[in-house]
Amino acid sequence: MYNIIADYHTHTIYSHGKGTILDNVNAAREKGLRRIAITDHGFSHIGFGLDKSSLKKMKDEIKQLNEMFEDIEVLLGIESNLIGMDGEIDIPEGLLDSFDIILMGFHKAVWPHSLKDGWDLFARNALAAMRTGANERLRHANTMAMIRAIERYPIDIITHPGAKIDIDTKELARAAVKRNVALEINASHGFMTADYARVAKEEGALIVISSDAHTPDRVGVMDRGLEIAKAAGLPPEKIINTKEYDELKRNWK
Ligand SMILES: [Zn+2]
Ligand SMILES: [Zn+2]
Repeated sequence: MYNIIADYHTHTIYSHGKGTILDNVNAAREKGLRRIAITDHGFSHIGFGLDKSSLKKMKDEIKQLNEMFEDIEVLLGIESNLIGMDGEIDIPEGLLDSFDIILMGFHKAVWPHSLKDGWDLFARNALAAMRTGANERLRHANTMAMIRAIERYPIDIITHPGAKIDIDTKELARAAVKRNVALEINASHGFMTADYARVAKEEGALIVISSDAHTPDRVGVMDRGLEIAKAAGLPPEKIINTKEYDELKRNWK
């Protein structure tokens, strides 16, 4: 039902993936993908975030691979972290231009933008996860933080919205539509679920299905994500890594 031609979310040894960039690219080529993004974890991730000194090496490697292979396009990306309530992410302004594609998601074990952000974003959400029942104020604050992030930065994709953090999918989808940002169905986590994907669909949001591969053999493996998309009845032309979207987009330009 869906002609997937790209995987925009894969990890390598530059964060805590197991394969090299070349390993991921070859795995993608074997699966017949036309495009792959290398999106290691943002600089603030504790323990395995991307090292700023690796950037040049990654860029050179990717340039070389793009020259070497004609059947695939390799993009340098990053899965940046939301680190503040005002939408701060962990990419310094001066480095934003380094990337072909920018992903942003909420992860634990990340250095916050400030002590107050550490409490508001990380501690409050950790405490809320231990309680039952919804916390409307917290959900609203989380959603606003993500919306501010996509307003402040050239973010292309929000990874696994709703995973590890309570958000209002409808509000986020509305803001994403305005900024042309895609919401991710993560084939590894199973986030967004079909229910949330339906909400995003009603708002007309762009969607991406990603493997979030941490090993080369998982690159392009999206079965779980495809099932969710199908269950939600998402049209292929709204999914940015399908052939249909690619063709449409070419017509728009
Ligand atoms: Zn993630
Ligand atoms: Zn990831």
